Amino acid sequence: MELTNIGTVRDILGRHGFNFSKGLGQNFIINPDICPKIAENGNAKKGYGVLEIGTGIGVLTKELALRADRVAAVEIDTRLLPILDETLADFDNVKIYNEDVMKADLRGIIEKEFAGLRCAVCANLPYYITSPVIMLLLESRLPIDSITVMVQKEAAQRLCAAVGTRESGAITVGVNYYGTVKQLFGVSRGSFMPSPNVDSAVIRIDLNKKSELTEEQEKFFFRVVKAGFSQRRKTMANSIASLMSISKSAVYSVLSELGLPEAARIEQLSMEQLMKFSVMLMEQTKE
Ligand code: SAM
Repeated sequence: MELTNIGTVRDILGRHGFNFSKGLGQNFIINPDICPKIAENGNAKKGYGVLEIGTGIGVLTKELALRADRVAAVEIDTRLLPILDETLADFDNVKIYNEDVMKADLRGIIEKEFAGLRCAVCANLPYYITSPVIMLLLESRLPIDSITVMVQKEAAQRLCAAVGTRESGAITVGVNYYGTVKQLFGVSRGSFMPSPNVDSAVIRIDLNKKSELTEEQEKFFFRVVKAGFSQRRKTMANSIASLMSISKSAVYSVLSELGLPEAARIEQLSMEQLMKFSVMLMEQTKE
């Protein structure tokens, strides 16, 4: 079944009485070049189990199942299940979990479905939870080699920005702490049904870095990063002190030990400075 043929897609959706949910970020891929490219660049190959987030009608799922040993996919919308039964009928290596990715036991799914296999994540992510999903995948320290996802162009720019620049955000720090990220290719809005009002891009994060902090330090580090970036117009001392209930003088003293001004903004710090800052602040707050 050709899941990028508009006539075929309209026919399936019509027969099942399906209408798109904007709230769930449902923009399905109808450009035939995209899904094979995501699969080929995303470690969908022999020896791998691929975790997909958000199947839609299974257009990417199918390409993953053709190449990888197994596919486990998490899809929140129950209305898509009878459609997937039809579109993926030829595959016996796909398991659909009808769950919210933010609440699902992803580690349990990986252990159950991918025993003896390496694991990768591939998805055309629902845009309303792009950053939370990526942060969840990173922070849960799941045994995955790579995350290859389609995101909106602006999100791709933020993800691929350099730490220490105005374009960076908490997510930029997150991906650079755990691995390396790069943009693979752009995707125009006309590649989707319905067509969104922005273009997209596919990025790949390779999770290839060893943790430099202890588990406790790492948790504190991400609290600092999220607090610091959540109020970008404020100085980092102001936002961290108010959101983490830490005295401003403690923040100032760490900044000064690092040779940074009291008015420093979090996006001006390098990865190394951010890590040092957070480790020292954690020590201070223990005293
Ligand atoms: N992979 C399909 C494609 O490329 O055509 C669909 C991509 S569409 C952008 C996002 C999909 O994620 C939709 O099928 C939507 O129902 C699903 N979704 C949205 N929120 C979700 C959540 N919290 N957990 C799991 N799936 C979700």
